[in-house]
Amino acid sequence: MSTAGHFIRCLAAVAWEAGKPLVMEEVEVAPPQKHEVRIKVHFTSLCHTDVCFWEAKGQTPLFPRIFGHEAGGVVESVGEGVTDLQSGDHVLTIFTGECGNCRHCHSEESNMCDLLRINTERGGMIHDGESRFSSNGKPIHHFLGTSTFSEFTVVHSGQVAKINPEAPLDKVCIVSCGLSTGLGATLNVAKPKRGQSVAIFGLGAVGLAAAEGARISGAGRIIGVDLNPNRFEEAKKFGVTDFVNPREHDKPVQQVIIEMTDGGVDRSVECTGSVQVMIQAFECVHEGWGVAVLVGVPRQDDAFRTHPMNFLNERTLKGSFFGNYKPKTDIPGVVEKYMNKELDLDKFITHAVPFSKINEAFDYMSKGECIRCVIDMGA
Ligand code: NAD
Ligand code: ZN
Repeated sequence: MSTAGHFIRCLAAVAWEAGKPLVMEEVEVAPPQKHEVRIKVHFTSLCHTDVCFWEAKGQTPLFPRIFGHEAGGVVESVGEGVTDLQSGDHVLTIFTGECGNCRHCHSEESNMCDLLRINTERGGMIHDGESRFSSNGKPIHHFLGTSTFSEFTVVHSGQVAKINPEAPLDKVCIVSCGLSTGLGATLNVAKPKRGQSVAIFGLGAVGLAAAEGARISGAGRIIGVDLNPNRFEEAKKFGVTDFVNPREHDKPVQQVIIEMTDGGVDRSVECTGSVQVMIQAFECVHEGWGVAVLVGVPRQDDAFRTHPMNFLNERTLKGSFFGNYKPKTDIPGVVEKYMNKELDLDKFITHAVPFSKINEAFDYMSKGECIRCVIDMGA
């Protein structure tokens, strides 16, 4: 019997309080409204952003809430006005969207949609501000418009990328966020040429994805910079050839890298969120052609300070949001890169848990033990 148009009762992992374990419980999921789709989530993975907002340190707490944004699933039903998706489509949910109608969506150069750009404060759907989730009649807030820690979720169709149905959802679910952010920062923005050197600052999931982009580009040398020496062994699998731990040097990191590379790296990608590191990443690129790309999210009161001469000497500084990928237009192509074996995703997936043990995924992430933990919604 079709569930379209009806409420669905299913299991969700609800966060009732900041930092407290998620509670597995039955929730009601309303049918999708205008421009929305309801998705059966098959696999979802945990990202730092989920953990940050669950801890709610420095963010406006919004509870109860269903977290989760990296996910692969199948469309169950679509709401009014949805023409590009239908029941049965294999999809990824994306934390930022593509409405197709705004100035950004019309520009070939931007992915910063006016309507559906990431909004961490919003707890309801754009259409009416209401939640599609409830528990015993009490509404539960959405997160990033995706809320994938639920067997079914409702998402704006502009935040849904339709992908190759042959793609294994337990692998490609990680393409939803961190992987694409780092990969795209290198492939779409830094654009290293074959044989060039690339420095990656911060070897978390995003930095390792940036390193994967450097490997795919045929970079000659990939220099990983991280304060955590445990990151280095792992990073070798990602093609990182050289390591720099700033703690092991008594001179500035940019100086160390300039000396290692006879004048500076050709490209650098910053994936830490530290403004000091952003400055290092810029100042270590070669005069004349070097390009630095900032990806990390800085603190609110940070200011980037460097001598203007660093620009006059023909270094370029850029920033990137979601790897400059347009969610609906470009993400299916990233999945294709995996399908044709150009992109390796398996090495990013270090852990897997059944949905019933989702709190363990939070433990792995909090302890810094995993790159990606994939949660099997059917187990
Ligand atoms: P992560 O915490 O897993 O990794 C960060 C790494 O940086 C860690 O290994 C840490 O040891 C290292 N590091 C921290 N300070 C350092 C320093 N001073 N020098 C060298 N290394 C240092 O984080 P992640 O999930 O990989 O995310 C990285 C950044 O990307 C975060 O700031 C995140 O908010 C940001 N992000 C940006 C976008 C975007 O679209 N621009 C999207 C997602 C995430
Ligand atoms: Zn738009």
